[in-house]
Amino acid sequence: MSAPLVILGGGLSGLAAGIRHARFGRPTLILEKHLRPGGLNSYYYRHGLLFETGLHAMTNYASAGARSLPLNRLFRQLKLSRRNFTTHEQIGSEVIFPQTYLRFTNDLSVLREDIQRQFPHCAAEFTEFIEFIRAYDPFQVRPWLSARQTAARFLSDPLLIDMLLWPLMIYGNSQEHDMDMGQFVIMFQALLLEGFFRPGGTIKDLLDMLLEHYLGLGGRIRLRAEVSSLKTRGNGIQTVSLASGEEISCAQVISTIGAPATVGLLPDSLPQRAAAYTGRMSFMESIYIVSGLADLPVKDDCTCIFYNNHQDFDYCRPDSLIDVGMGVINFPANFQGIGTPELAQVRVTHPANYPLWLELNRGAKGGGRSGRYLEAKETCAARSLTEISKIIGNFSENIVYDDVFTPLTIAHYSGKAEGAVYGSPLKIKDGRTNYENLFIAGTDQGYLGIVGAMLSGVTMVNQHILTA
Ligand SMILES: Cc1cc2nc3c(=O)[nH]c(=O)nc-3n(C[C@H](O)[C@H](O)[C@H](O)COP(=O)(O)OP(=O)(O)OC[C@H]3O[C@@H](n4cnc5c(N)ncnc54)[C@H](O)[C@@H]3O)c2cc1C
Repeated sequence: MSAPLVILGGGLSGLAAGIRHARFGRPTLILEKHLRPGGLNSYYYRHGLLFETGLHAMTNYASAGARSLPLNRLFRQLKLSRRNFTTHEQIGSEVIFPQTYLRFTNDLSVLREDIQRQFPHCAAEFTEFIEFIRAYDPFQVRPWLSARQTAARFLSDPLLIDMLLWPLMIYGNSQEHDMDMGQFVIMFQALLLEGFFRPGGTIKDLLDMLLEHYLGLGGRIRLRAEVSSLKTRGNGIQTVSLASGEEISCAQVISTIGAPATVGLLPDSLPQRAAAYTGRMSFMESIYIVSGLADLPVKDDCTCIFYNNHQDFDYCRPDSLIDVGMGVINFPANFQGIGTPELAQVRVTHPANYPLWLELNRGAKGGGRSGRYLEAKETCAARSLTEISKIIGNFSENIVYDDVFTPLTIAHYSGKAEGAVYGSPLKIKDGRTNYENLFIAGTDQGYLGIVGAMLSGVTMVNQHILTA
């Protein structure tokens, strides 16, 4: 058999790239270091309950009939039936700042009306800005352009700009303070023009469906197969080495493990080059399983609440372990048609500081966690709960189970340097590297989130592998 396309990482971009390639009968091998696929978006069991690790909401909602929208294009490219894929649209989300709030749903008119109500002087400006966004090609390779400054050419109120930036940033910006205009457009389309939904079932059902489809097309996956280096010959990658010492020959390689980690696998790896690609934004995520949530006076008409309590909004790595002054609160049951489960979830995300968490864990033995780290986790979770209770009401008495993951957890399970969920601030939009048969897909190529990661995998296979 000829040497396969080897895909590093079995997250959503790796699975999508694998399916796209395997559907043409071409040899494809995914190497995943963990025991199950999914990467940042996976699941685990505790006390017989399934916990999703990433999923708040999927972005890029499209009804089955809207053929040209990214979600449906993705399904066609993967040869999957969109009509058999159940989706639940969001109920609605809110952006809350000290000065005011804005609501949005998957129907843009809701946001327009709120802007008309809260920022009447910006209503016409917003319409023009939307036209500009719709016409902007985010994948044209061009120099970095400030989203803040570009938005300010259209919108005369800086508060409105901050309030539009905040959800787009916390759901997909690897950069502090500002955002590249291309990234802004990708996220604006994904969240505000197309919108949020949840697939029917859990993330496990989605992953199982993708994996089964991939295997059915003849693709292969190896789990617990950590890639430790890439061996080169001339200008190409010749073999992929596993931590076990095994060598696997390859025709091409697509890496979804992030740019810094990919640089680290290469013989000419320089720490400065890896550092240049390392993002600074990481997060702490709390997951609560709550009984009787429906009977509590807890805000229940929202899917996601993006709150910021700071007078001066700034998206950046906090100086402390976490910043409870800003975050996202997500209710995974608050999607249309899901009903009220007996045990509901509440998920909360705050910006967090990776180096401080790492420092706390210094000296921990054998991959374990230090007492100081575990204590800090408890204290931070308690502070977070107090803060969000002021916004949504108090449910602490009804918590049946909770779990917290820190930037160290994210780094461990995704391989993303410094737990930078959204990867590098330097995106490699064409996916090319210095090696002719090595390409980057996933977060560091520039598409973000679940649908984005999958689109990235498919696009890189189309552009670089199927045309070869
Ligand atoms: C807390 C949290 C909440 C999120 N919520 C949402 C959400 O609600 N909606 C949404 O759309 N997105 C969400 N995301 C983001 C989304 O999960 C990611 O954008 C997407 O899953 C990225 O997919 P990926 O395949 O590019 O990367 P990853 O998921 O990081 O996959 C990379 C894979 O590579 C593997 N790997 C790493 N190093 C190696 C190696 N050396 N050898 C072999 N394998 C390796 C990893 O184990 C991993 O499986 C969330 C993320 C987090 C952390």
